[in-house]
Amino acid sequence: MPDRIHNFSAGPATLPEPVLRKAQEAIWNVAGSGIGIMEHSHRGKVFDRIIAEAEQACRSLAGIPDDYRVLFLQGGASLQFAMVPMNLLGADRTADYLLTGVWSQKAVKEAKAIGKIHIAATSEATNFDRIPKPQEIRYSSSPAYVHITTNNTIYGTQWRTEPSVPSGVPLIADTSSDMYSRPLDIRKYGIVYAGAQKNLGPSGVVLVIIRNGLVEAGAKTLPTMLQYRTHAAENSLYNTPPTFGIYVMGEVFKWIQSQGGLNAMAEHNETKARLLYDYLDSSEFFRGTAQPDSRSLMNVCFRAPSEELEAKFISEATKLGLDGLKGHRSVGGMRASIYNACSLQSVQALVSFMKEFERSNRAAAARS
Ligand SMILES: *Cc1c(COP(=O)(O)O)cnc(C)c1O
Repeated sequence: MPDRIHNFSAGPATLPEPVLRKAQEAIWNVAGSGIGIMEHSHRGKVFDRIIAEAEQACRSLAGIPDDYRVLFLQGGASLQFAMVPMNLLGADRTADYLLTGVWSQKAVKEAKAIGKIHIAATSEATNFDRIPKPQEIRYSSSPAYVHITTNNTIYGTQWRTEPSVPSGVPLIADTSSDMYSRPLDIRKYGIVYAGAQKNLGPSGVVLVIIRNGLVEAGAKTLPTMLQYRTHAAENSLYNTPPTFGIYVMGEVFKWIQSQGGLNAMAEHNETKARLLYDYLDSSEFFRGTAQPDSRSLMNVCFRAPSEELEAKFISEATKLGLDGLKGHRSVGGMRASIYNACSLQSVQALVSFMKEFERSNRAAAARS
């Protein structure tokens, strides 16, 4: 058994190997300082440089303009579900949500505690197997903002492009599971937020990119930690930030740059996803669960002919060093998460195993 296996976990997920190697060294002694990254003060010169470089690399990847702030916060995407309405929604205003899965539902739940919520479109009737079509979207008369989940990690669906929103209304996006997997036009968004642990780094840090005009929107009576202005004014250093997570995220951004940036990431991700979906479409045994026009390039969800065969598939795959393929407990089946750091070789190994499994279990499936 090699010391690392093929990891298809939905999150925390596989990280780029060169980043892991560099982090190993940095834990011992970062930037020749004689002190490891986890042991440095967040107020010192060494960490100043680390966070500045992380922000710089983040900005350069998507050409983030100067009128957006890049923040490294805590509490995961889940705290953003609450911080967004706390800062942008009043009790008497309405926010519009595009409801495309469990994560959007959780975002709605938090917002409902703050103000009024209008569901502008949903695919709940078919268990979130698709992204709503533009003509299905009905916005309320003057929403405070529109919220979307760009990639639905659990169902394996993904918005191809941003929905159009009424002019002047900020679009807020939870991009936790597809951040920087493809080009991002930040100008179309008021806020983009992403928990790091899928595509960007270790858990414990959430990236928030916010337009300047929204930083001051929250009431000053909110708890200090829950106001965007606090973190913007203090450059994410109001309290002790997740220093190690920010370091790794910076290295992941630099790794994406070294791979050719977001266009190259998109191409790499399309190649991997195509390999899996083409096989699923040709298979008489497995089937993909997301509707073809809504398929995610990040999370590929599929079923086998019976739950017994699915259990057997997952168990045999695990024995062969193909890990993390069990679907989310709310949908069952299988899910291959193939984020930026997942290699083409890992996907090739998975498809080979699937072909082999189909061949040797087709007879059992026909009998069942
Ligand atoms: C994983 C995930 C979350 C939850 O993120 P936490 O950092 O655990 O709060 C939210 N949204 C999406 C789309 C996710 O994939």
